Amino acid sequence: MIATIAAIRSLSPRVKEFVLQLPETVRFAAGQFVVMTMEVDGEPIQRSYSIANESAGETNLLVLWIALNEAGRVTPRLFQLCEGMQLEVSEPFGGFVLRDASLQEDVVFVCTGTGVAPFRSMIDQCLQQANPTNVVLVMGNRHREDVLGHAEWLQLAADEPRFRYFPVLSRPKEADDDMLTGYVHAHYSDWVTKNPQIHVYVCGWDAMCKEARQRLKDIGLTRRQYFFEQYDG
Ligand SMILES: Cc1cc2nc3c(=O)[nH]c(=O)nc-3n(C[C@H](O)[C@H](O)[C@H](O)COP(=O)(O)OP(=O)(O)OC[C@H]3O[C@@H](n4cnc5c(N)ncnc54)[C@H](O)[C@@H]3O)c2cc1C
Repeated sequence: MIATIAAIRSLSPRVKEFVLQLPETVRFAAGQFVVMTMEVDGEPIQRSYSIANESAGETNLLVLWIALNEAGRVTPRLFQLCEGMQLEVSEPFGGFVLRDASLQEDVVFVCTGTGVAPFRSMIDQCLQQANPTNVVLVMGNRHREDVLGHAEWLQLAADEPRFRYFPVLSRPKEADDDMLTGYVHAHYSDWVTKNPQIHVYVCGWDAMCKEARQRLKDIGLTRRQYFFEQYDG
C-alpha cells in the first residue's frame, strides 16, 4: 500500500522517527514489522522495519524508528525524504510477537539500537495484563545520545512498579553514571538465572543476538522461553 509520511523527527543523531499515514486501517500484533519497498537505481529494494507504535491493535498511523546506515542502499535515501512524500509499505506481519505463555511470567526484553522499536507495544501489552508479573527492559547502546526513548522509559518505570528499565552504555562518559556500562549480557543474566520460568525477547544487532542465544542456552532456558528478532549488519 502507498503511505504518506505524516511526520519525521530526530530521536538521536542517527535515528529518525517516521510516522506514516496509511490509506486504510490495519491491525498489527505487538512486535510485528512492515516491509518497505524503495526504488534504488531503477531496482525495487525491500527492507523490514519493526512497528514502533506505543500500542498494538488497529491503526492507520504507523510509527517506524529507523537508523541511518551511511553505507546502506535504502536508509540514506529514506533520510532525504520529507513530510508529505509517499512510501510503499506492506501489511504488518512477522512471528516475533508475545506468546500467550509469556503473559503469565516475568519477561525480560533485551535490545540494542533500534531493536527497542518492537518492544514499545510488547511492553505495553505485558503491562495491560492484570497479572503481577515483572517486565524488565535492558537496552544497549554505545553512547548516551543513542538511547531511544530514555525519558519515556524513565517515566514508565516511575509510574509502573512492575516495570524496570536498565540502559547500558558500551562507551560511557564520566557523566553517564546513571546508566549501566559494558554490554547488555552481564545485566540480564542475573534476572534470568534467579527466575528459571522467565521469558526473554531479544532484538537488535546480529552479534548481540548470537551471544544472547548462547548465554540463554547455557543458563538452561528452554527454546519455549526465548525469542529473537535479528536485524542485519
Ligand atoms: C525483521 C526486521 C526488522 C527490522 N527493523 C528495523 C527497525 O525497526 N529499524 C531499523 O533501523 N532497522 C531495522 N531493520 C534493519 C533494516 O531492515 C535494514 O537492514 C537497515 O535499515 C539497513 O538498510 P540499508 O539499505 O540502509 O543498508 P544495506 O544496504 O542493507 O547495508 C547494510 C550494511 O551492509 C553493508 N553492505 C551493503 N552492501 C554491501 C556489499 N555489497 N558489500 C559489503 N558490505 C555491504 C553496508 O555497508 C551497510 O553497512 C530490521 C531488519 C529486520 C530483518
